[in-house]
Amino acid sequence: MRSLNNLLNTLSPAEQTEIRTGWTNDRPNGPVTSDDPDAGLWEPKPPEPVKCPYCGNNQYYAGYYHGHGRVQWYLNTVDAVIPCKCDGMTRHIEKQRELYRQRLDQEKAEQQKKELKRLIEKNIRSSGMPEKFRRRTFSTFQVSNENSKAFRTCKAYADRFDELTEREQNGLAIIGPIGTGKTHLAAAIANELLQSGKKVICMPSVDMLAKIRATYREDGNDDEIMNDLKTADLLIIDDLGKEKATEWTSQTLYTIINARYENELPIVITTNYTLKNLVDRMTPAGSQDSISAAAAVDRLYETCIEVPMIGKSWRTSQHGRTV
Ligand SMILES: [Zn+2]
Repeated sequence: MRSLNNLLNTLSPAEQTEIRTGWTNDRPNGPVTSDDPDAGLWEPKPPEPVKCPYCGNNQYYAGYYHGHGRVQWYLNTVDAVIPCKCDGMTRHIEKQRELYRQRLDQEKAEQQKKELKRLIEKNIRSSGMPEKFRRRTFSTFQVSNENSKAFRTCKAYADRFDELTEREQNGLAIIGPIGTGKTHLAAAIANELLQSGKKVICMPSVDMLAKIRATYREDGNDDEIMNDLKTADLLIIDDLGKEKATEWTSQTLYTIINARYENELPIVITTNYTLKNLVDRMTPAGSQDSISAAAAVDRLYETCIEVPMIGKSWRTSQHGRTV
């Protein structure tokens, strides 16, 4: 095929002008293919078609017509050659698309896994959990006749957290004497939920109050820690009632417990005291005002399922002694 210039040179200047003018009007600028009947007149010439490996038919190139007989052929893009419509090529393309989708899904899953891991690590750092709590899981808990019911309740609570915390009674009050494994169960709930990406704060009440107080002293602003305590998916207060009660502890605990109550967010507590005795424990000595303590415990009464831990202390009974 003669090149465009050779072709033009055989024509008179008037004819050349006519053709050039015609080109500007012959077709709108836009996508074209290399099997176009006019393709031989365009510059540059179209690339040779590629044989379909499945049926041997020609596959043509796509391009863009820029007017005046000039075309830009798409040579280097993945979809440069217009694929054959035969069954073999159709199946091949479908398979490639499927592989591509699978790869995208896989990359997305890996990305989500990484993000979950980052979230878990971040939540563990901000959980306030003492290091020794971190190893206390359901699998390391020693189940006995005395504690098996409490164990099952706590395990079910962690396993079905989203469902169970939709209910009005969305928390647990794990109640029993020292050394019965209350803290272990509470920590196990925290560890299981943290591993599923939940934001859990799990602290002994004494530590929690000390942390609030320390933050308050440093810059007069306890908003961040208080906000975390009020908004975490789950707040676990270990050993509630152990703290020495003052007006401040009583009011601070009430503020946290009430905020979570208002937002229908769950609380798990462990305590050596019955809920009734907790009011006395949380009321400052010599104070006639037990309103904050009573109101806080009222909220717990209303929202927490009681999980009694009865029987012998397993820590001491392991050594052959009983409490
Ligand atoms: Zn084909």
